[in-house]
Amino acid sequence: MIFQTTFEDPNTLARTGILELNGTKLETPVFMPVGTRGVVKTLRSEDLEELEYSLILGNTYHLYLRPGTSVLDRFGGLKKFMTWKKALLTDSGGYQVFSLNSLFKYEQDGVKFQSHIDGSRHYFTPGSVIDIQRSIGSDIMMVLDDCAPFDSSPERLRQSLERTHRWAEMSVDHWQKNKNSQHLFGIFQGGIDLEARMESLNAITSLPFDGIAIGGLSVGEPRRDFIRILEGIGPHTDRNRPLYLMGVGTVPDILDGVRNGVDMFDCVLPTRNARNGQVFTSKGKINLRNEKWKNSDEPMDPNCGCRVCERYSIGYIRHLHHVGEITAFSLSTFHNLFFMKSFLSEIRKSIQSGEFMKTYAKWKNLYEKPEFSG
Ligand SMILES: [Zn+2]
Repeated sequence: MIFQTTFEDPNTLARTGILELNGTKLETPVFMPVGTRGVVKTLRSEDLEELEYSLILGNTYHLYLRPGTSVLDRFGGLKKFMTWKKALLTDSGGYQVFSLNSLFKYEQDGVKFQSHIDGSRHYFTPGSVIDIQRSIGSDIMMVLDDCAPFDSSPERLRQSLERTHRWAEMSVDHWQKNKNSQHLFGIFQGGIDLEARMESLNAITSLPFDGIAIGGLSVGEPRRDFIRILEGIGPHTDRNRPLYLMGVGTVPDILDGVRNGVDMFDCVLPTRNARNGQVFTSKGKINLRNEKWKNSDEPMDPNCGCRVCERYSIGYIRHLHHVGEITAFSLSTFHNLFFMKSFLSEIRKSIQSGEFMKTYAKWKNLYEKPEFSG
């Protein structure tokens, strides 16, 4: 992987860069749409190409359970399976074990869990999740870590750090033993305790990972703690490697991430909210299910250049949501991902022209208030 910083904001840690992943070149800061089970819900691979995304995310936990590694091996990996020609990042599956399963148990060298689908028993280790990600064939693999809830006791937080650091070393060993073109990112933890965060950042940064990820943030902690941790660690991150803030994707959170040096984001929010009838526009969020759009022949966002806004009225899309037509979900998802792509592009341009904080203030103002009511 080649990562190169291209512009740095003189007033903050915001920067633009180029990330090159096995032949796919993309600009950072970047937002990655989430394709949990080998598809970005309601969209086709050609829709993602049309939207000009170059990096998407798949979930190891889900893909391991279904279709499973034997099918993925048979097809030569997920990219061939879904005919995706650009880059792919996979998480380690650890977070889904922790968030989807009431029945899981950490052990010294791994985590035992039961499938949320059929209750079958499984065991993930730092090495096995790398092997699964090799079957998936992602360009960026993530390590198995122990994400403790943000309100954990000091003892639980200590345990999370020790386990996360031990597993990080085991992951590097396993990865380097049989190295191919797949890159590996480390994840640091530490909850909302800045001292623990710094300790974990230093432990993970000392290992030869291709990139560093912030885990265990945006997991329900108060927003002021989220900001405090980002501001606390930002100046101490390794600027030679890309910094990835996992699971973050609201407009205000992306702005604060970029301001503190983050290069990569992923989140289900733009796609999940679209299916629930909430779309992002140049004037703020709007709820398509609202009665007030019933007779409007305007597009969802008159300032949006996406093919949905060019063709369909908000009144029509509101109707499709209202009656539960599945086309409502794909049209709204396409628009929201077009919005996210344009939003990140505007952020990059503002960094390059030295006006990042102006863009920051504009979008913060639009997205920290309730829905735009027309
Ligand atoms: Zn649009």
